[in-house]
Amino acid sequence: MQSIGIVGGGIGGLTLALACRESGLTDVSVYEQCSAPETAGHGILLSPNATRVLHALGLKEALTDAACQSDAVHYRSHRTGYQISMRPLGAFAEARYGAPFCQLLRSDLTRLLTEKLHDREIDLHYGWRCTGLDQSAEAVSLTSERGETRRHDLAVGSDGVHSHVRRFMHEEVPPTFTGHVAWRGTTPVADLPAQFNSHPATIWLGPGRHITHYPVRGGELLAFTAVVETAVSGDESWSQTGERAVLAEQFQEWHPVIQALVDASEDLHHWPLYDRAPLARWTDGHVTLLGDACHPALPYLSQGAALAIEDAWVLSRMLENWEEDVASGLSEYERYRRPRAARVQAGSRQEGQSLHLSDPWQIRWRNLRMALGSRYLPEIAMERYDWLYGYDCVKGFG
Ligand SMILES: Cc1cc2nc3c(=O)[nH]c(=O)nc-3n(C[C@H](O)[C@H](O)[C@H](O)COP(=O)(O)OP(=O)(O)OC[C@H]3O[C@@H](n4cnc5c(N)ncnc54)[C@H](O)[C@@H]3O)c2cc1C
Repeated sequence: MQSIGIVGGGIGGLTLALACRESGLTDVSVYEQCSAPETAGHGILLSPNATRVLHALGLKEALTDAACQSDAVHYRSHRTGYQISMRPLGAFAEARYGAPFCQLLRSDLTRLLTEKLHDREIDLHYGWRCTGLDQSAEAVSLTSERGETRRHDLAVGSDGVHSHVRRFMHEEVPPTFTGHVAWRGTTPVADLPAQFNSHPATIWLGPGRHITHYPVRGGELLAFTAVVETAVSGDESWSQTGERAVLAEQFQEWHPVIQALVDASEDLHHWPLYDRAPLARWTDGHVTLLGDACHPALPYLSQGAALAIEDAWVLSRMLENWEEDVASGLSEYERYRRPRAARVQAGSRQEGQSLHLSDPWQIRWRNLRMALGSRYLPEIAMERYDWLYGYDCVKGFG
């Protein structure tokens, strides 16, 4: 029986464990450095390219119960609240892409995945921080910081943007600080003014910054992500508790509903955003990478977790014929996934530039294009995203 050790029990690692189990691999272990599953109350948007995979893994009903869906995403101007454009989601998008857009808390998504993994009797090792990796021609050994060693036929590094596993196969090149800092938090809808009662998903655009909010937890909470350009380099830690007053200051000139959203916010954390050029290689012998470990995407298209979920599905399908030849499975995995990941990384950078325009003429031109697109040429406006949301790795990936 072939065994697989997954380093990192984030969204990518947990999805891979489930996908491997569903494709018939029984000896699957996940090693996660945190002592328990993620509990942070941050929101996550899952697009159809990701939800179709979760549906295929038997999570359709659980995801539908846990998630909210918005009929549309509205783009608004930061000071006046003027609606620039609107992109339909809900039933329209589901009919177009065959799977829904979902909004939920990351902790709820992690819970759904871990519950399913417990049902499937997959070993989840919490408090197991991988600090060593050694491979021979036959196998790979993982060592924890407490000195325990586990031997596997294959190790997958799904250990995030600051991946340790990546360092065993590539010289460490520090990621580039983008000059952007993201803040995430949630706000109880009951604490917000009446404008939020219908709380559609909304993206507010202002020079050098934007804020996205959407309902989660049955509409009781609004989850938001605010991204601000700053001259100050952030520090390296992944998640830090943020100060509400600092965020409020960044948005003090903005529409009163945004100020209310920030003033009543809870669970605020901020992240300096780092970028990496695409890696030339994801695999070395018995070790491969997945998700942010090999292709972190800036959050402007909300695709980082979606890409990790797609990777997980494709890798698990490539391992189905493992008895025959794992090396060619891994190289096929890379061959299919690298161009897709690089395209999404590039698209995310581009989207960030467009969302954060500062030049008044460029802003007018962007807004005009968005407005004309959504009012008069909605089909063409939607087609722009078909390559992203229409990607269906469940059907095939040739
Ligand atoms: C502000 C912001 C908003 C975002 N919004 C969205 C969104 O709406 N939709 C979307 O699709 N994506 C979004 N993303 C991207 C998404 O969060 C990431 O791309 C996604 O979490 C990547 O999943 P992963 O499993 O590769 O890595 P991670 O989620 O980072 O998981 C890595 C795991 O590995 C563990 N780990 C690390 N080192 C070790 C070690 N040595 N040993 C053992 N375990 C280890 C970590 O504790 C962690 O649990 C957003 C990102 C940011 C910053």
